[in-house]
Amino acid sequence: MATVSLKNLVKKYGQLEVVHSIGLDVNDREFIALVGPSGCGKSTTLRMIAGLEDITSGEIRIGDRVVNDLPPRQRNISMVFQSYALYPHMTVAENMGFSLKIAGRTQPEIDAAVAEAARILSLGELLDRRPSQLSGGQRQRVAMGRAIVRKPDVFLFDEPLSNLDAKLRMQMRTEIKKLHAQVQSTVIYVTHDQVEAMTLADRIVIMRDGHIEQVGTPDEVFRRPATHFVAGFIGSPT
Ligand code: ADP
Ligand code: MG
Repeated sequence: MATVSLKNLVKKYGQLEVVHSIGLDVNDREFIALVGPSGCGKSTTLRMIAGLEDITSGEIRIGDRVVNDLPPRQRNISMVFQSYALYPHMTVAENMGFSLKIAGRTQPEIDAAVAEAARILSLGELLDRRPSQLSGGQRQRVAMGRAIVRKPDVFLFDEPLSNLDAKLRMQMRTEIKKLHAQVQSTVIYVTHDQVEAMTLADRIVIMRDGHIEQVGTPDEVFRRPATHFVAGFIGSPT
């Protein structure tokens, strides 16, 4: 069960508190979008869940484990960033299989996992190419492929589409929805784009200045925004 639960989660950088005691319960297999203006603490929150950033206080649970002190690779999560960070000297297949290779898996196991990910993301034709021979959208699909080969319980996305043009962003939204349906994992998806959040997510978490303004389904936050800020951000009729 890949639930994610945040309790009184606080992050300070020196004296500056950027995440103010937030709480959130994400259900197993739920698609949660974390939205809000630039600088409100979305990436910091996601990075704390991933274990890439220490927490100042509070608790993070993934499934039935408190993961506060676990390193990223023991949390069974995969993270996809805005910058694809593919290895330029490796092929698509090697990029996708690399994390399994360093985890000591056998080549047949790696090949099977890569083939499965390539099928889900329609990357079959591209497995022998290098990143320089791919378009932006294809690179982002490889980055997602690399994340799914590890079969994580939880996917964390940090603005994965913001480097793509509008048309490609639309296509990739569909791909991400398809991916979520197929791999059946829990997703926490950070974006500053409310339309992207509304189309993708089961529930939306609206953040502002390091706290959570409202949590609800797209319909709830649109129809019943809890604050003027939410109404303005989501574009609800007033
Ligand atoms: P978002 O992803 O919503 O744009 P961030 O989580 O990146 O916001 O940042 C939240 C706040 O924390 C911002 O005010 C940012 O300047 C600050 N911040 C982020 N990383 C650091 C850091 N390493 N040191 C100091 N302040 C930081
Ligand atoms: Mg960010």
